[in-house]
Amino acid sequence: MAAKKTSTVTGKIDPRSQTVEVARRLAISFPEVICELDHRNAFELLSATILSAQCTDARVNMVTPALFARYPDPWSLAAADVGELEAIIRSTGFYGSKAKNLIGMATALVERFDGEVPSDLDDLVTLPGVGRKTGNVVRSVVFDLPGLPVDTHVGRLSRRLGLTKHEDPVKVELQLNDYLPGSEWGPFSLRLILHGRRVCDARKPKCDECSMADICPSAGVPVTAPTTKRPARPSPAPKAVPPKKQAAKKQAAKNQAPKKSVPKKK
Ligand code: SF4
Repeated sequence: MAAKKTSTVTGKIDPRSQTVEVARRLAISFPEVICELDHRNAFELLSATILSAQCTDARVNMVTPALFARYPDPWSLAAADVGELEAIIRSTGFYGSKAKNLIGMATALVERFDGEVPSDLDDLVTLPGVGRKTGNVVRSVVFDLPGLPVDTHVGRLSRRLGLTKHEDPVKVELQLNDYLPGSEWGPFSLRLILHGRRVCDARKPKCDECSMADICPSAGVPVTAPTTKRPARPSPAPKAVPPKKQAAKKQAAKNQAPKKSVPKKK
């Protein structure tokens, strides 16, 4: 039986050289970088990425053929009937807000960008339903421009591997951007996502099979299950009673107190 792999990292990790080494190893493990959302152009990838929120790529790929057949361009999607659109995308979850975002995104493309998907991140994030993550997906995958999408896999693995301590996705993105050349931002994110899906599962990481085990500070470290327990609500602080009211209260209490019986004079 193969020996159980545990972390051999002893000294302090330099996040910059660690990121470069992780990127090098990921490129060996995943030489081909693929975006697992099916698409034929920027508009389709943008729509598919909006649908992928809180949903698997496999599920999105089941829905998009019908979606793209019915609404092949921003003009048709901008004019979509909400109910009909919701019925098509229902199985991806949160279909009400996703339908609203899809129509809003398409309308913005028609009204402000002549029906073209912009490549500038500052423009992309002005579209409904599009944040930095989605914008960076489109930039790196379709336009081959620098863009490092930080989704839950990328954030989680970056922390596990000692690349960052940040929880905020934007801070993670900017820190990793600083360590890698722009041409590697997109491929690094896609490879980290593949590594998260195939090897470093959130609950059951396969450290024994992992090519990073000897440099990973989390190798063999038990994963703590996320707590679902709600934090206890603090009991409401007692209200301060102004001095005037306090005096009035005391007087009222006095008036209500049973009067002492006075013995009759004989
Ligand atoms: S699978 Fe284990 S060794 Fe590999 S990156 Fe995840 S925690 Fe580290």
